[in-house]
This record gives sequence, C-alpha cells and structure tokens, in this order.
Amino acid sequence: MEKEIVLITGATAGIGEATAGLLAENKYRLIITGRREERLEKLKARLGKLTEVYTLCFDIRNRREVEDAVDSLPGEWKDIDVLLNNAGLAAGMDHFHEADAGDWELMIDTNLKGLLYMTRKVAPGMIDRGKGHIVNVGSIAGREMYEKGNVYSATKHAVEALSRGMRTDMLPHGIKVSTVSPGLVETEFSLVRFKGDKERAKQPYKGMKPLSGRDVAEAILFILTRPPHVSIHDLLIMPTAQAAAMTVHRE
Ligand code: NAP
Repeated sequence: MEKEIVLITGATAGIGEATAGLLAENKYRLIITGRREERLEKLKARLGKLTEVYTLCFDIRNRREVEDAVDSLPGEWKDIDVLLNNAGLAAGMDHFHEADAGDWELMIDTNLKGLLYMTRKVAPGMIDRGKGHIVNVGSIAGREMYEKGNVYSATKHAVEALSRGMRTDMLPHGIKVSTVSPGLVETEFSLVRFKGDKERAKQPYKGMKPLSGRDVAEAILFILTRPPHVSIHDLLIMPTAQAAAMTVHRE
C-alpha cells in the first residue's frame, strides 16, 4: 500500500522539523511548509534521501496564500491524508494590561486563523475520500492559564475547542481529529517569543531537561499509527520535571 501523504505546517524548525524527520524515516510522503524557503529546500534535500518530499512556501496568516498553495499541489500530491497543524508561536510575555496589541494580532492570526484557513482548505478533500486525520498542536497553555500567558494561552485554548468542534462536525465522515499538547520543548519557540533575546530565551529551560522536538514527534507518530477504529483525541506530553505550566522542578 502506498504510504500516506502528510502535510506539516511549520516544518522549518522545532517540532515540525523533527516530525518531518521521523515521518520520513517511517516512509510517509511529506509536504513540508513554512515561510523560510532556504530551510525548506535544505530539509527536502536531507529527507529526500528517505522519502518523497514536496515543499510549499507561504505565510499561513494569509488566507489567499494558503488557498493558492494548496491549489498549486500537483495531482499526485493532492490527496492529503494527514494535516499536521503545527505552525504557531508565542509573541511576548507581558501582563495583559501592558501587552502589545500587535503581538496579540500575530498570535491570533498565526495560531488560530492560520489553522482555520489550512483546515478549511484541506478537510473537504478528506471528506470526499471518506478518510483523513487532522492533528492540531495545542499546548499545556491550552489547558491552564499562567501569569503573562494571556493571549497565547487563549489561542491554545481555542485550538482545543476547535479540535472538539472539528471532531464533532466531521464525525459522520470518518475523519480523525487529534490534539497533541506539549509542555516545555526546546526549539526556536522561546527565541521567537522573546524576539531574538538569546539570554531571555534560555530562561525557561534553565536547570531542567525540556522535551525535544523529537520527543513530541514520537507522540505524533504514535497518534498516526493507531488502527483505523482508534482515535487519540488528546495527548498531553510533558517533561518529567514539569508538573504544570509554571510548576517546574529546577536543579
Ligand atoms: P519553532 O521552533 O519556533 O517553530 C515554529 C514553526 O512555525 C516554524 O517552522 C515557522 O516557520 C512556523 N511558522 C510560524 N509563523 C508562521 C507563519 N506565519 N506562516 C507559516 N509558518 C509559520 O516552535 P515550535 O516549538 O516547534 O512550535 C511548534 C508548535 O508547537 C507551535 O504551535 C507552538 O505553539 C507549539 N508548542 C510549543 C511548545 C514549546 O515549548 N516549544 C510548547 C507547547 C506547544 P517559518 O518561520 O519558516 O515560517
């Protein structure tokens, strides 16, 4: 049987890149996406030795770009079996009353509207074929609020809510919808959140061992490899040293 096609948003770094690597080792056919074209091409050159890889470079915040990118897929890549909605970010970490509204817009446009545009574009094909799996990357921040987490947490709570809504609406069509919600993962996430401030970006991981992108990729592979009648709705994966969003044991 031909291996499934997986479209990964945000494959140029972190969890998305690690998942692309693990899925390539497992011979899935991959559509890797992100804004940084050079990284996409490098990844394609590396993973292309293991499996078939197609790249799509676009900004997920732009509905037109999302639609055009998916429409541009050649025939042999159109039947997407798995959509991994991973692209996302936190921008800033400030008390609500001091936060930058531009940061809020960036998070809402990427984590929420981007995920909605992608899923709305890809899901109808899955429904036509009576088969598909949507995996949304949530966060521990989608389960709890923490100080200064306000809008980032709200977007991840919304991802949880939308996963439930998508699952309910697509139930008669046999579409699986899963959420994978990690705690602290060492990726470019913190560097993006703190806008390139390397010292500040290291703070969340000080004195503890965070998850790696590969750890989360393994959870995603588990979700994808369940038999057809089994759906993992929600998987929370945390570092052993983290009990809750802000409860971290540091040496
Ligand atoms: P990362 O290393 O910064 O990777 C983020 C990815 O998202 C990049 O590939 C980036 O690609 C892509 N992206 C961001 N904005 C985009 C846009 N406008 N259009 C297209 N792609 C965009 O962060 P990560 O930790 O792997 O994050 C992946 C997901 O995990 C996010 O949804 C995040 O909220 C979630 N998460 C992370 C953690 C953590 O501790 N790291 C914990 C829980 C949940 P380009 O820049 O090339 O576009």
